[in-house]
Amino acid sequence: MEAATEQMQTSAEIIRTNLAHIEARIAAAAKRAGRSAGEVRLIPVTKTVGIEECRILRELGYTHLGENRIENAEGKIAALGPPVEWHMVGHVQRRKAREVAALFSRVDSVDRLELAEALEARSAALAKKLPVLLEVNVSGEDAKSGFAPAELPQALDTIRGMPHLIVEGLMTLAPLVDNPEQVRPVFRALRELAAGLGLKALSMGMSNDYEVAIEEGATEVRIGTAIFKAEHEATE
Ligand SMILES: *Cc1c(COP(=O)(O)O)cnc(C)c1O
Repeated sequence: MEAATEQMQTSAEIIRTNLAHIEARIAAAAKRAGRSAGEVRLIPVTKTVGIEECRILRELGYTHLGENRIENAEGKIAALGPPVEWHMVGHVQRRKAREVAALFSRVDSVDRLELAEALEARSAALAKKLPVLLEVNVSGEDAKSGFAPAELPQALDTIRGMPHLIVEGLMTLAPLVDNPEQVRPVFRALRELAAGLGLKALSMGMSNDYEVAIEEGATEVRIGTAIFKAEHEATE
């Protein structure tokens, strides 16, 4: 019992320390871009941690959390309840559309029309309006899912015609690189696409590249590793 409590305090401290560091970096990046830190929402991605860590985040005021798999998310969603809103950020199989539409507040990773159609049908059955982001494969990597920039306007038109989906913006995953400066053009391209299409939300930036993403206009960053890593792993 005592050991478990100590363990919990330790992870609460790690999380709090890491978040203070990250929030300071978010504010500094926003300032460099002439933006206010309040324009950027941090969405902790909790796929590598359990319910207790999610509770710690909620107590610290983080009410938007991200998960990439239903299997990992279900127990946490049931345990935390409102006001936490869950974002599906991972690849969704069509046959999982019903569960995803029922469990999540927003699907940030709508990466193909077939999925949008399935989510529309399931949301209609639930009499629910489902906010979504369209995932864009800006870098054109074969292994990556998402709409190609060139097909985005047509896809957006089609999805905007679906009465139970609300398209709030765009999402992308940048390629993994050593120096985040290398992916600045990816973030810039997503911002330009969103501006051209009249979309506001821009979910871009993860542990390795969130500062560059914010400088390029991210309104949301999805961060996992940097929040949960033990201090000795921290990079300065
Ligand atoms: C895991 C995950 C993140 C967070 O990644 P970190 O590098 O751990 O910050 C963000 N977005 C998606 C889609 C993820 O699956």
